[in-house]
Amino acid sequence: MYYEVRDKFKEECGVFGIFINNPENRTDAARSTFYGLYALQHRGQESAGIAVSDGEGIQLHKGVGLVSDVFTPEQIDNMEGHIAIGHVRYSTTGESGLVNAQPLVFHYLQGRVALAHNGNLINNKEMRKRLSTYGSIFQTTTDTEIVANLLARYSQDKMEDALAKCMIDLKGAFALVIMTEDTLVGVRDPMGIRPLCLGELNGNYILASESAALDTIGAELVRDVNPGEIVVINKDGVKSKQVVNSPGRAHCVFEYIYFARPDSTIDGITVYRSRRQMGQQLARECRDLDVDLVISVPDSGTAAALGFAEEAGIPFEEGLMKNRYVGRTFIQPTQKMRELGVRLKLNAIAEIVRGKRIVMVDDSIVRGTTSKKIIQMLRLAGATEVHMAVASPPTKYSCYYGIDTSRREELIANIMSIDEIKDFIGADSLHYISMEGMLQSLKQEQPWFCAACFSGIYPVQHED
Ligand code: SF4
Repeated sequence: MYYEVRDKFKEECGVFGIFINNPENRTDAARSTFYGLYALQHRGQESAGIAVSDGEGIQLHKGVGLVSDVFTPEQIDNMEGHIAIGHVRYSTTGESGLVNAQPLVFHYLQGRVALAHNGNLINNKEMRKRLSTYGSIFQTTTDTEIVANLLARYSQDKMEDALAKCMIDLKGAFALVIMTEDTLVGVRDPMGIRPLCLGELNGNYILASESAALDTIGAELVRDVNPGEIVVINKDGVKSKQVVNSPGRAHCVFEYIYFARPDSTIDGITVYRSRRQMGQQLARECRDLDVDLVISVPDSGTAAALGFAEEAGIPFEEGLMKNRYVGRTFIQPTQKMRELGVRLKLNAIAEIVRGKRIVMVDDSIVRGTTSKKIIQMLRLAGATEVHMAVASPPTKYSCYYGIDTSRREELIANIMSIDEIKDFIGADSLHYISMEGMLQSLKQEQPWFCAACFSGIYPVQHED
């Protein structure tokens, strides 16, 4: 048995799809999807899969592990076709494994169809029950299978019409890429909770969870898929259909805080810039803090720490060094080894921190156990004071929209006051950015974000 060191919210999936106009480029679709998934690896490390269509049939390969574990160059070379979709998945214990790896491929009246999904349907239980009474049989626990079964019910219709009907029943957060033998389709939920964007490369169109995946294959970002929109890509080009009138936008604010790559632009906002601005705002809210040095918890806290240092006029130094080759840490479940788990990932640079009063900037605190160990490490390395500044408000509530949060009772801000958290992690002082400050940093006047894990105000009512 292994124990995973985990003190962050976890993104659950990333999706990618490409339609190559020239069917002669027989392996470009699979290869581009492989690189696209590589760029999205941070969104899921449990399994990876690619489905390819050559216009006559769909070929699928998927497996458990990282993209580089699941695919060899030979496998990619053998995946011939001009349309492809891909998926990386993170899943909670008990739901992992090959059976839930995506894409899923189904036969329906009009041929074969492959689906990959990022997000979470909040009416999953109700839909499973309803579809089961009509005779549907489920093999996986993924929401994707619900979409497939719904699609099958409308299989006399064209794909976009069938999807438009499905959208009436699907409730929650979803970004879907769907491939038939001759068409690629992208769908985004009516509030745009999970991201999905459209790109272009030499007249070929691409769909991806994040624009960084477009950059990786040399494609340009065209635009984000709108909430409630279906984008249909085939040999005639791109067609868009607004199938559900969006009741209002609720883009996941945590994409900007932690999940997304800093080099991505999501819904018109550059992730790196937003993190830096959150750091600046945090510094404005901590005016009285008297320290010598700003350090970050690398890498996710670094952009905010740079913004903090810039605004406060205090030097920034790399006081903690990250082992870039660890990836996910699986260790034996003894207390001693758990402590070692953090040390495997991070180490303090004594020469930088010794004798200094430090403020350490991080993107969020989930359970507080990692922050506590890092602060101990900094004190052992000789820091005289360690203050902590967090570039998001206290995370108190679970997410129902496709993010694996700890259980609500495990979220430290749900069970302790800020003062108690400060004592638990052993900091000299603890500062969180305010909700208003965070939203202002995103430079949007409209309240068009989901921030339910901070506020408990859920944009779509969930079953639980
Ligand atoms: Fe994102 Fe939090 Fe909303 Fe979930 S609850 S979608 S993590 S902002």
